[in-house]
Amino acid sequence: MDAGLMDAGLKRELEAKVYAGERLTREDGIALYESDDLAWLGRLAHHRRTELNGDRVMFNLSRHLHLTNVCSASCAYCSFQRKPGETDAYAMPVDEAVRTARAMAGEQLTELQVVNGLHPTLPWRYYPEVLRELTAALPDVKLRCFTATEIQWFEKISGLPAAEVLDELMAAGLESLTGGGAEIFDEEVRRQIVDHDCHWPDWSRIHRLAHEKGMKTPATMLYGHIEEPRHRVDHVLRLRELQEETGGFAVFVPLRYQHDDVGAPDGKIRNKLQSRTTMAAPAESLKTFAVSRLLFDNVPHVQCSTGTHGLSVAQLALNFGADDLDGSMAAYKITHDAGAHPMHRDDLLDLIWDAGFQPVERTTRYEVIREYDGAPSLAERRSEPQQVWA
Ligand code: SF4
Repeated sequence: MDAGLMDAGLKRELEAKVYAGERLTREDGIALYESDDLAWLGRLAHHRRTELNGDRVMFNLSRHLHLTNVCSASCAYCSFQRKPGETDAYAMPVDEAVRTARAMAGEQLTELQVVNGLHPTLPWRYYPEVLRELTAALPDVKLRCFTATEIQWFEKISGLPAAEVLDELMAAGLESLTGGGAEIFDEEVRRQIVDHDCHWPDWSRIHRLAHEKGMKTPATMLYGHIEEPRHRVDHVLRLRELQEETGGFAVFVPLRYQHDDVGAPDGKIRNKLQSRTTMAAPAESLKTFAVSRLLFDNVPHVQCSTGTHGLSVAQLALNFGADDLDGSMAAYKITHDAGAHPMHRDDLLDLIWDAGFQPVERTTRYEVIREYDGAPSLAERRSEPQQVWA
């Protein structure tokens, strides 16, 4: 059913629910995905986003550090993994990790995101040691590290339960887990794309524990591969239910599934889904942001990554429910085929101002560091958010 065919009564009913602040059901979510009336979906999502976050767009200055790209698993969507012995496989000694982080820490970086492969032989002790050394070297930079999959891996290699793993990592400086490893929780889809055994029961167990220990964590969703809209709805509803229980998710991050760079240095395509998928088109991404914002009504923020969506879609996503931008990597490769580059503070400010919103720099826990009113010349460009359907 598309918007033209969508029963007018159903459309009115969904609108009424959104404007009354009523919780949407699984069926509502699937009906919203079936609509091709993008402007209508955007208007509904923007209403909800404005109720929650006004015309503010949050961002922080964050960079990625990958301690190792060697991984025991071979997830079908993953371009990052390397096997031991491959020419560009690496694992950083602790001092190299600190040197690499220091080199990225200019311009008042506030966060480092550390995500890694499931290395078959690095010992558990290595990870808290890296965090301790990073904390000592960069005391003002908060550490957002490890997916739930990695925490489950640490349970295996340490013999410790997740609660003790988290305690030790927090004592070493861990501020928050990352939201990765979520992909799509539906078992049928997951079986085809995920090659490790951290699924919804363990992923939710580990985030629940993190929330109990006071962390505010993100939750991601990898969309635009073999899943169907009903799987995205199911994914969000599981998270919404867990959020009812813990209140510990700070942000939801829809991530667009990406194909490998065509010119990988060794010519290998590791992304096994690539030959049977296309990447989600911008309209599909905007729809996913809008429906996610409407369904996941108890998560405070929805984030768009400039790295996976590109700058134009990221600006548009701010009108489709997103209110938080991650500029730690930007996909200039979409237009320039020149690889991904992190964005600087001024780039992010201009991106947000140019889209008609007010930038707010935040901490990893979503506390406000600084609200930017905008230089007069920039503030004059837009007096209020520009709606794409106006
Ligand atoms: S666990 Fe899967 S997604 Fe993560 S690095 Fe390994 S292969 Fe890639």
